[in-house]
Amino acid sequence: MQKKLKRWSLCAERQAGAVVLAESAEHISQTILFSRENLISVAVCGGGHSTAGSSSVEGAIVIDLSSMRNVDVDANNKIVTAQGGALWVDVDVATEKYGLATVGGTVNHTGIGGVTLGGGHGWLTGKYGQVVDNLLSVKLVLADGSLVTASETENSELFWAVRGAGQNFGVAVEFTYSLHDQPNRVWAGLLLFSSEKLESVVQFTNHIAATTRGENAIAFGFSAPAPLHLPRVIVVVFYDGVANDALKVVGPLLSLEPVMNTTAEMPYSTVNSILNHVSLHGSRRYLNAATFLAPLNVTFVRSLFDDFRDFCQKIPSASESLVLFEIICRDKICQVSPSAMAYANRGRYYNAVLGPCWHDPAFDSEMRAWAKRIANRIQNEAGKDDPADRGTYANYANVMDVDVPLRDIFGQNLEKLQMLKAKYDPDNVFNKWHNLARRTVN
Ligand SMILES: Cc1cc2nc3c(=O)[nH]c(=O)nc-3n(C[C@H](O)[C@H](O)[C@H](O)COP(=O)(O)OP(=O)(O)OC[C@H]3O[C@@H](n4cnc5c(N)ncnc54)[C@H](O)[C@@H]3O)c2cc1C
Repeated sequence: MQKKLKRWSLCAERQAGAVVLAESAEHISQTILFSRENLISVAVCGGGHSTAGSSSVEGAIVIDLSSMRNVDVDANNKIVTAQGGALWVDVDVATEKYGLATVGGTVNHTGIGGVTLGGGHGWLTGKYGQVVDNLLSVKLVLADGSLVTASETENSELFWAVRGAGQNFGVAVEFTYSLHDQPNRVWAGLLLFSSEKLESVVQFTNHIAATTRGENAIAFGFSAPAPLHLPRVIVVVFYDGVANDALKVVGPLLSLEPVMNTTAEMPYSTVNSILNHVSLHGSRRYLNAATFLAPLNVTFVRSLFDDFRDFCQKIPSASESLVLFEIICRDKICQVSPSAMAYANRGRYYNAVLGPCWHDPAFDSEMRAWAKRIANRIQNEAGKDDPADRGTYANYANVMDVDVPLRDIFGQNLEKLQMLKAKYDPDNVFNKWHNLARRTVN
């Protein structure tokens, strides 16, 4: 049967030759062996958010994990086990019933598979580190069709590799994460400000970057959302605590008189739906990554905003594009050595994400060029005087037709990863994501 899977970005849609709606590790294993015997390429689809098409394939086989979304919570031992096709909403909702949570993505319709295997971060990262820092074990179907468990005590070198480069090593059918007490509601919300408030918002963000120890986080940027499509400053704030405490910290931001303010106390799981409606399925979309150092220079950010505004005037249908600077405390991330696992981006720099959004394929190259140009500007100008050796977050570098330098993603872990790739996947079956078997090593 021919089937075209629905993707977050229309740019990632491909006409698969066949889609295997996997229900078990056994199905996946048989599919991999079949595809290898018949020399058919195979792609793995978790939450379907890749914008580069790394979970899609034209004319070949897609293993679709969307029927594998079970979640089991062991509240006594504070662990959660979720199947490889689960979305973050599945995990957030299941764990919340027990007053527990783990670190997950900030948009709850993303897949735990792609987010986790590439490193993963979210609002709780400031307190508990990366998603991979909370991963206890993973069950994987390997390129030879075998099902293995990888943890600190079992297949530990594979476990080292899958925490940051997992897409290269197999199909994860089950993840087990540690859980943390999350008994209270949190305070969070989305705010929109008119453009003249930009400098004040940047100054407030710089203040949060300098003061937070992980209990709060902020992301700000630009978009021109419907219905008005006016370029606005968009802010998401998060405080792990009650409103009274949050307001002592975030009060100065609210006093800037946002034109929209949805901040309120809410269950933790709701925070991860705040950005859902600015990240809807059904458009042409693309992700591009940059990193930056705080404090951000207000003049520089203003110049980016002006660039965004001018671009929206030129291509009005691009107005729902998003440029977002994330300030999530790096203390916990940096406590782990960059060589402790494949995920290597553990400097004191922050992530920015470029999310162009448009509708007409005629603008594909122009949109990509714009996102790349803005990403380069942030990477090259935001904190350029600091000697920090800034890497690239693989999951945000979801670029099409461009190989992101593997060294930027994996740093000094690259050679060890390539050695493990040759051991576990010598024929390069899992080759659609940032591919460790790529010949050119930058
Ligand atoms: C709207 C949006 C919000 C985001 N927010 C965050 C965020 O808060 N934090 C963050 O860290 N990142 C975030 N990201 C980036 C995100 O980590 C990547 O887009 C990620 O690849 C999405 O995974 P997926 O399973 O949904 O996508 P897919 O397209 O299904 O998969 C992406 C890659 O992972 C592979 N894969 C997926 N599941 C499995 C599995 N079980 N076993 C083996 N391989 C698998 C696929 O083959 C593909 O190569 C966001 C992305 C988007 C589009």
